[in-house]
Amino acid sequence: LQYAPFGVFALIAIVFGQQGAKAFGPLGMVTLTVYISLVVHLVLTYGGFLAINKLSFLKFLKGGREAMLTAFVTRSSAGTLPVTMQNTEDNLGAPRSIASFTLPLGATVNMDGTAIYQGVCALFVAFAIGQSLSFSQQVTVVLTALLASVGTAGVPGAGAIMLLMVLESIGMPVKEGTAVAMAYAMILGIDAVLDMGRTSMNITGDMVGTVIVAKSEKELDMSKWK
Ligand code: ASP
Repeated sequence: LQYAPFGVFALIAIVFGQQGAKAFGPLGMVTLTVYISLVVHLVLTYGGFLAINKLSFLKFLKGGREAMLTAFVTRSSAGTLPVTMQNTEDNLGAPRSIASFTLPLGATVNMDGTAIYQGVCALFVAFAIGQSLSFSQQVTVVLTALLASVGTAGVPGAGAIMLLMVLESIGMPVKEGTAVAMAYAMILGIDAVLDMGRTSMNITGDMVGTVIVAKSEKELDMSKWK
């Protein structure tokens, strides 16, 4: 693994050698698409769930921002767990009895940011090799991205490894010398940037879930939301 950056560099050098600066455009679009999807998910899904439970989205962002930022810079849900727990208990008022169960569980299996990233990247690889995905392939991407994200470890870069499984499921295995391998390598080159956003989203979902569970159990300290 320590040599992986050299391999990625060599593969990307080939892509940029052949395509020149043209390769930057699609990668910029992938990054933009992933971040826009994450923001839409944050505002609509989480904002929506909080609103349904009569909790302020802005107060949530204020209380959880330290965990979100820590996840953003460390790119690890597992590494961020102590901060996620501290923010959820001290700033958002969830009791330890609930947070100490839901947050470690969420940091292990709830990777919604990763699922979004894998979906976007699967589309990118398909377009990059000039194939359009049929409806059944698109459904397969949704299902395998969901399963792959559950199996993704909360450590930097793990989602990119699980992306291999998603690609394999739609008949695009990453094999040496193929166009799929080149497209995958391009994504690996910008993986750190994508990982920051998706990790932040991963732990945000855990915090939202925790406060909603605490509220439904009538154990949420509502004085923190005033
Ligand atoms: N870095 C992510 C996390 O720790 C996992 C991933 O690579 O998608 O949540």
